[in-house]
Amino acid sequence: MKNQSVVIIGAGIAGLASAIRLKAKGFKVSVYEANSYPGGKLAAFSENGYRFDMGPSLFTMPQFVEDLFKVANVDISNYFQYKKKEVVCNYFYEDGTTFSAVADEKEFAKNAENTFNVKAEDLETYFKQSKRKYDLTASLFLEKSLHKFSTYFSKDTLKAIFNVGSLDIDTTLDAYNSKMLKDERLVQFFNRFATYNGSSPYQTPGIMSMIPHLEQYFGTYFPKGGMHSISMSLFQLAKDIGVDFYFNTKVERIITDKNKAIGIQISGEKVFSDIVVSNSDIVPTYRKLLKEEKAPEKILNQPRSSSALIFYWGIKKEFRQLDLHNIFFSEDYKTEFNYIFNRKEVHNDPTVYINITSKEEKGDAPESCENWFTMINVPSNTGQDWDKIIKQARENIIKKVSRLLKEDISKLIEFEAILDPRTIESKTQSYQGALYGASSNNKYAAFLRHPNFKSSIKNLYFCGGSVHPGGGIPLCLLSGKIVSDLIAKTN
Ligand code: FAD
Repeated sequence: MKNQSVVIIGAGIAGLASAIRLKAKGFKVSVYEANSYPGGKLAAFSENGYRFDMGPSLFTMPQFVEDLFKVANVDISNYFQYKKKEVVCNYFYEDGTTFSAVADEKEFAKNAENTFNVKAEDLETYFKQSKRKYDLTASLFLEKSLHKFSTYFSKDTLKAIFNVGSLDIDTTLDAYNSKMLKDERLVQFFNRFATYNGSSPYQTPGIMSMIPHLEQYFGTYFPKGGMHSISMSLFQLAKDIGVDFYFNTKVERIITDKNKAIGIQISGEKVFSDIVVSNSDIVPTYRKLLKEEKAPEKILNQPRSSSALIFYWGIKKEFRQLDLHNIFFSEDYKTEFNYIFNRKEVHNDPTVYINITSKEEKGDAPESCENWFTMINVPSNTGQDWDKIIKQARENIIKKVSRLLKEDISKLIEFEAILDPRTIESKTQSYQGALYGASSNNKYAAFLRHPNFKSSIKNLYFCGGSVHPGGGIPLCLLSGKIVSDLIAKTN
């Protein structure tokens, strides 16, 4: 294995995680990135005195970031620090209900009992079931390749298969939540977790009710310096242990010879290597980089996850009732998701998420101001008239948030920038600007994600949100682990 060379296409979070792990195992690693910066979707920008994280805003499972420093044998404290959030998210409903979700499970249940028609014990039961589902399936679905026979001969897998009947795979998340919780506002609260992988609660299976366990049990965190410091600290770590980076370098082709990957092509020049890892979305990886290979059409044609429309607003006022994470729910969640996934349009009453990092880092906004990352879920880009959608959505969001905060926010916006599915796609190559690759809107979704390797082409591997185990920072970091373990086992 020593001195074997690996090229990684893309410096997204999964590309960085793969690079660190492979370098720590003794490979010679080079990363080629089309952008001028690392991190992919995990980027940031500053303008007019405001700093914004561009993409992810919720940080869970920091242990997967810590693991990368452990494998590299480097002290994390010099690179990356984070703190636990006691208030996870503030929720605002159209009927005037407000709810502050706190990290402590017992306190959460007590507060919920005081706000909704639910008994604290019912919520404790819900969280217990959530944990059980996670414990039964994490090792099978998240931590190993689903596409190697050896995975199916482990004790953990057999236990999951034995308990499959109690994992709520055959019901939807909404049906499960409605059965368990009754109060419509609470059902909406727990349905929202489907959006953590860009899916609809009315289509995704009930097993997704394990997601609240991740937030409630493992906690939510804020990284010092904002989300961007996750990608920047991993980039610095990778550089410090000897990974080579090439920016502004778009890979044009993966070179294969006799069913084996032997390198990549950049600006017509060939760069040879023993192993190739693609962190690019799996659709452009096949359509652009592997044009001569037969593409797995069934996998590539899976419906995409939702995308996002984001208004980065500089707000010249501070709002005491808001925290780092805030949700303003739509009145009719079912219709909202019907618009996103079936009509591929945007409902006129969307759920609005506002992330304000200046609540944690004063320097992210000028004195007495706040940096609002204002996001709604939208369909992936299939050619909609986005300029028209953006104009209408902006009006609807301002009206809704102004109504619920009892203040005309249109007068407070002194800076604005916009990100939509088209720009997400052009900045990161994510097919249709989807945030999490394919959606998890059916019970077979986990098995319809592309494997982390290609059985017909030796030495070619895949990591990132569009392949197994899926999107979101924790899963992307895990894909880097799966890929590096597979490579180390076969080389
Ligand atoms: P990406 O970030 O997609 O990066 C891929 C990289 O590969 C890019 O830098 C691209 O330029 C490069 N590349 C592609 N093709 C080539 C090529 N041919 N040559 C060279 N380079 C190439 N996740 C969470 O956990 N929490 C959240 O709160 C959250 N919110 C989100 C909000 C938004 C608006 C977005 C966009 C995403 C959000 N996500 C969230 C999802 C999360 O950001 C992604 O799942 C994750 O960052 C994807 O990482 P990745 O490694 O797959 O690669």
